[in-house]
Amino acid sequence: MSSEHHGSTVGEACWGAEETRRLRELKEQLDLQENLVKIGHKIVVLSGKGGVGKSSVATNLAVALSLQGQKTGLLDVDLHGPSIPTLLGIERQLTPTGGTRIEPAAYNPNLKVMSVGLFLKDQDEAMIWRGPAKHGVIKQLLTAVEWGDLDYLIVDCPPGTGDEPLSVIQLLEGAASAIVVTTPQDVALNDVRKSVTFCRQVKLPVIGVVENMSGFVCPHCGESIDIFKSGGGSNMAGEMNVPFLGRIPLDPALVSAGDKGLPFVEHLTASPTTEAFDKIVATVIAWCNPTAKSA
Ligand code: ADP
Repeated sequence: MSSEHHGSTVGEACWGAEETRRLRELKEQLDLQENLVKIGHKIVVLSGKGGVGKSSVATNLAVALSLQGQKTGLLDVDLHGPSIPTLLGIERQLTPTGGTRIEPAAYNPNLKVMSVGLFLKDQDEAMIWRGPAKHGVIKQLLTAVEWGDLDYLIVDCPPGTGDEPLSVIQLLEGAASAIVVTTPQDVALNDVRKSVTFCRQVKLPVIGVVENMSGFVCPHCGESIDIFKSGGGSNMAGEMNVPFLGRIPLDPALVSAGDKGLPFVEHLTASPTTEAFDKIVATVIAWCNPTAKSA
């Protein structure tokens, strides 16, 4: 037996598969800690059900923060239906390098973006993930991505209280807070009550509730019509004893801006929607920085 062969046999005997696995886990844990320690505020955006505008809120919050000079990361953990790349118009920028570190896409010099959607060759490709695989992917997105120094990391979760938000919260080690997005209808509000209860169960502080699609300002007469009723989100927030962050009107211009990959906070600056949203952003910043003096 050659000494080389002998050496590797001894090595394998000393470092069996179990030790190698533990060492790899330890290394991943250190990489995660190293990434997380450089991130100021971690905000998870949740909703009780789909289609209420959660991704639009997450995206525009991240863009608004970045435009205010805050170093921001936007992480899309909606593994089955990643929409952040479309909302920002940055599809298919990334190719897996095979290396251990992943460079996020840059929307602007202050905003780094990561989504599995950025690796898709075809936007119609179905993403099939089993539960345990999802946790691994989310861990990779938090661990292997070069987020660098960030003031804020905004995480867009899929709707509901399933595997993905649980993994994110667990991986962020409780050092995060949540924004819950809802629409004013009763069904959505019942679902959002579950989101708030979920946050309580996993000890995630709730920054507040955003009531989206709340009232429609007629482009012809300027009259406000409450298509889905209004005020439900604020009533629910009061009932659940969580802060109410504000209402965003139903705005057709927001849909076309989103479809074109143009965040409304940047491209519809003079609209009542952006005005309403800016107030929400200011409240979020104040919540995150309670000792900072307002200008
Ligand atoms: P979710 O992440 O909750 O599934 P999205 O942010 O993807 O929801 O929004 C779903 C659709 O609703 C998108 O087409 C988006 O442009 C539209 N939308 C979101 N908010 C508004 C709003 N305030 N007014 C009009 N359309 C909106």
